[in-house]
Amino acid sequence: MTERVVVVGAGQMGNGIAHVFAAAGHAVTMIDVSRDALARGRATIEKNLARQVQKGTVDAAARDAALGRIALSETMDPVRDADIVIEAATENAELKFRIFGELDAAAPNGAILASNTSSISITEIAARTGRPSHVIGMHFMNPVPVMQLIEVIRGLATSDETTTRVLDLSKRLGKTPVEVNDYPGFVSNRVLMPMINEAVYCLMEGVGSADAIDTVMKLGMNHPMGPLALADLIGLDTCVSILEVLHRGLGDPKYRPCPLLRKYVAAGWLGRKTGRGFFSY
Ligand code: NAD
Repeated sequence: MTERVVVVGAGQMGNGIAHVFAAAGHAVTMIDVSRDALARGRATIEKNLARQVQKGTVDAAARDAALGRIALSETMDPVRDADIVIEAATENAELKFRIFGELDAAAPNGAILASNTSSISITEIAARTGRPSHVIGMHFMNPVPVMQLIEVIRGLATSDETTTRVLDLSKRLGKTPVEVNDYPGFVSNRVLMPMINEAVYCLMEGVGSADAIDTVMKLGMNHPMGPLALADLIGLDTCVSILEVLHRGLGDPKYRPCPLLRKYVAAGWLGRKTGRGFFSY
């Protein structure tokens, strides 16, 4: 069964999510407020599909079919015909609350409204809609076409039926869903962000260079990427936002964002997406 899918946000996560849905045979519309972001998102999907063709994991006909299933929009109009919406806009609570209000007003009654948020409460997002039983977290990992996991987050009011539909759909994308409950940072970022933050403290205090810190974690702990390179991949602004959610939501000072992390964000050094973070790209 194929679904009519809308992805809100065409950034690094949104275009990856659109990519995997289109590749699995679903009709996808990617929405963004920025025309540039839509064009860049589509170009990224083309580039990533071309890489998959080169590797032999996708053939040319499947690539063309997937690209043919992706439409772009600068307005919310396509939400009117959606079976499921996945929101992957900027990590900002007020923005997401507003978007979910708009989605709730526009989407058909039975449609599922999912958020790819890294940390914002699914329960709180759901409470901004008239359909909290149909609101759920669908937390894809970066880069979406490559990573196997989808962390599926149940808000307090998320129904069993919505959860089952999303778990089934995730499997049909060829992914492995893991169901968790809604607490700040869920499981993934509750565990990951304190490690990244501690790595930034090590850098700030001069315990080691960025290279040294990442090499210790790669060779010593068998992590495929060091925590600082991973922070650059995620986006340092996104890391600060997630740490603030953990800090506020759990009330423990151990989650306070490292001042050096804030300083990089203030400088506009956001990681890979701006060409400079803890490393240069
Ligand atoms: P990004 O900055 O690359 O993209 C965000 C996009 O949202 C931008 O293109 C922006 O124009 C668009 N946007 C902003 N307001 C909008 C609106 N009102 N309507 C439509 N589009 C709007 O960010 P990203 O890294 O793709 O993150 C998106 C979401 O995914 C965040 O919630 C983030 O926490 C989550 N996430 C990120 C990662 C990661 O590794 N970067 C991993 C998992 C989840």
